[in-house]
Amino acid sequence: MSDFDVDLFVIGGGSGGVRAARIAATYGAKVMIAEEYRVGGTCVIRGCVPKKLMVYASRFSDDFHDAAGFGWTVGPSSFNWPTLIRNKDLEIDRLESIYRSNLEKAGVEIVDSRAVIEDAHTVRILKTGARVRARYILVAVGAYPTLEPAIPGGELAITSNEVFHLEAQPKRILVIGGGYIAVEFAGVFAGLGSEVTLLHRGPKLLRGFDEDVRDALADAYAKRGIKLALSMTVTRLDKTPDGIAATLSDGSIVTVDQVLVATGRRPNTAKLGLENVGITLDAVGAIPVDAYSQTVIPSIYAVGDVTNRANLTPVAIREGHAFADTVFGDKPTSVDHDLIPTAVFSTPEIGVVGHSEAAAEERYGEIDVYKAVFRPMRATLSGAPDRVLMKMIVDKATDKVVGVHIVGHDAGEMIQLAGIAVTMGATKADFDRTIAVHPTAAEELVTMRTPVPAKKPVAA
Ligand SMILES: Cc1cc2nc3c(=O)[nH]c(=O)nc-3n(C[C@H](O)[C@H](O)[C@H](O)COP(=O)(O)OP(=O)(O)OC[C@H]3O[C@@H](n4cnc5c(N)ncnc54)[C@H](O)[C@@H]3O)c2cc1C
Repeated sequence: MSDFDVDLFVIGGGSGGVRAARIAATYGAKVMIAEEYRVGGTCVIRGCVPKKLMVYASRFSDDFHDAAGFGWTVGPSSFNWPTLIRNKDLEIDRLESIYRSNLEKAGVEIVDSRAVIEDAHTVRILKTGARVRARYILVAVGAYPTLEPAIPGGELAITSNEVFHLEAQPKRILVIGGGYIAVEFAGVFAGLGSEVTLLHRGPKLLRGFDEDVRDALADAYAKRGIKLALSMTVTRLDKTPDGIAATLSDGSIVTVDQVLVATGRRPNTAKLGLENVGITLDAVGAIPVDAYSQTVIPSIYAVGDVTNRANLTPVAIREGHAFADTVFGDKPTSVDHDLIPTAVFSTPEIGVVGHSEAAAEERYGEIDVYKAVFRPMRATLSGAPDRVLMKMIVDKATDKVVGVHIVGHDAGEMIQLAGIAVTMGATKADFDRTIAVHPTAAEELVTMRTPVPAKKPVAA
């Protein structure tokens, strides 16, 4: 060990890096972690956590409205943006300090600085210029939101990084993008009472999701008053006395107070020194790794969004943990990226595990599709136009459930549990013999008996 200052140097104190550092330290490794912004990373500081708090805030408007049908008289309600932002910031500060103290308790040394790679075993800490010799280096630097495509006036727009710190709630907002982050923020601002236009260059939102899910969300968003501008791009942004004027590809102009670009994220690999060691990046700038997260340089590993495998917090955490088990715990562990339950915190919420109908058809050939669309019980008295979609895809040859798709209240909570069954390889017969919990929306998952004719995919 004498040749090295530490056993492990982790670059990046986000989901993957923090987990790897802590687990490696519990195996007895001497660990140092560098973070250039705030410990906790994207998820805690400017991703999942603050976003979910804003999603909660945005849903009270529905609750106030729905209460009337159940006999409540709700007084005049109003929303105060600075209160939400202040309380959200306090919670993020609290979480960051927990992350720091958990690292310290595990004996990990935290370095508050950017760090770069000098060679296969050397990291340079930019704040002090110090060089640290490490037996292993773990790159866990995550990704950043892009302002793409570049357009005239593009600097007037913000990304998800800035949206958490706006001083005032935009009364009118244009959200550009069709992925889950764009969809979620469109839902948040609509729920908070902003006038929202959601613009996407493709014909449908949420590419890669099941077609029925995509249709259900578009339908629900239209009913919630979100203006959908699909198969459209923005050609320029101009500052005007009335706000920001966005010129769209059909020549029309939408004037708003904020433009939020959520068109994609790129790995944080620029100027990281990877070229010093001969690591070649892929086309989007991600670090190629093997099943154990090892790069072509044996002493350098990479986990999380920087590897662009499945860009989600629990995946980064799992990869970080597996790395520590493999390298310091004498338990070689790879991560299975095949079945990942996931949620979109739109309103209505989406929960998915496994394949879409189209993907399942391609992979398994013969499939059965079970589908239920119904009015949730709460909407009967509230009068809300909500609909729930439940869809299950079954591989005919094995009877295994290979996809579950839910759109509706608490879909994220439901899919976590359905995910266990699907991960265990549950068959449709297993779902069928499970007794329903009544009255719930989730009971539909165990009571769908008749398959619908499988249909062909309709949009790219
Ligand atoms: C708006 C938004 C909402 C999201 N919502 C969800 C969700 O609901 N569920 C979910 O599962 N995922 C969600 N994600 C994705 C999730 O945040 C990421 O997948 C996850 O944070 C990836 O973890 P990571 O460890 O790879 O990187 P990160 O968490 O991004 O951590 C990387 C860290 O490295 C630091 N860093 C970068 N370069 C250096 C350097 N050279 N030196 C020192 N430090 C450096 C960065 O400052 C950062 O703190 C969301 C993301 C965004 C942007």
